[in-house]
Amino acid sequence: MKNLLNYTIAAAILGFCSTTTTLEAKEQTNQPPIAIAIHGGAGTIERSKFTPAKEKAYRAKLKEAVEAGYAVLNKGGESLDAVTAAINVLENSPMFNAGKGAVYTHNETHQLDASIMDGKNRQAGAVAGVERIENPINLARLVMEKSVHVMLSGQGAEQFAVTQGVPLVDNKIFDTAKRFKALQKAKAKMQKAKSLNKDYQAAHQALPVEYKVGTVGAVALDKNGNIAAGTSTGGMTNKRFGRIGDSPVIGAGTFAENESCAVSATGHGEYFIRYNVAADICARVKYQGKTIEQAGKEVIHDVLMPVGGTGGVIILDNKGNMSLPFNTKGMYRASKSSTSPTYVGIFKQD
Ligand code: ASP
Repeated sequence: MKNLLNYTIAAAILGFCSTTTTLEAKEQTNQPPIAIAIHGGAGTIERSKFTPAKEKAYRAKLKEAVEAGYAVLNKGGESLDAVTAAINVLENSPMFNAGKGAVYTHNETHQLDASIMDGKNRQAGAVAGVERIENPINLARLVMEKSVHVMLSGQGAEQFAVTQGVPLVDNKIFDTAKRFKALQKAKAKMQKAKSLNKDYQAAHQALPVEYKVGTVGAVALDKNGNIAAGTSTGGMTNKRFGRIGDSPVIGAGTFAENESCAVSATGHGEYFIRYNVAADICARVKYQGKTIEQAGKEVIHDVLMPVGGTGGVIILDNKGNMSLPFNTKGMYRASKSSTSPTYVGIFKQD
């Protein structure tokens, strides 16, 4: 009878951070392991920018989300249901860049992206650029389960939603004063860059990382050994021309396969698409026999960091091991499993 819980918080790996939970769950009860990890975005998240009240509110919401997902698993529910339950809590909160609280586009609207993947059979669903869907992750799930497609976009995705009985909401329900202010600031910064003769691409590149991150996501393992991953976002502040990030792109922002791992990403989406981040991490596990911790560290710190790809991921495998690496100052994150209590982290040193 051995119950080995090895909970390591690596405070700094080469100046960056990774939080890893390693579970060897030869559990006393013979119950199969269940586990969930969530994120609420990575970026310039530093203690100095938080009042005690703000920090408390973020920690409480992350705890609520991870525990909502865990409760599903604990009742014997499926990993897909745990993922959507946790993400719905974050989408419904104005604190995160997904659903309510989503960032603004250049045209002062909100365009939301989401995706979900079932590790059992590599089924997947995604929506991109939807404006009138309150919980995009739920629509992504409907795309997976009720359509013959993987990704639907814009008005077509909304028409599909109507056929599924999903009500269309006013885009204004996603409005928040905080994000509107961020849009004005982003526009001013880009204007300044343009006046220095930089093109749109270069001006956007010059925006500080906080305008490019904030997504939410979850990965979960259920009692049947099935893993799943999901991601939901408002994308990037001041995005234009129908820009779509990595979050709805299977293999970039989201990936799940029982034999390797489940990943949900947050960060500068263009890099995460180009480096196929979520799928690359799982491929390293599958074909190179790497642990999720090694694979995550390699991709986030060794591959993305040198090219300027900022962000992080949450990773989980079918034994309940979890790793939450990021190369930014902080990442909103939380985890809970049958062998480890609720963990909530925001800053690098958490
Ligand atoms: N990855 C998202 C995107 O590029 C943004 C984020 O993670 O906050 O759309």
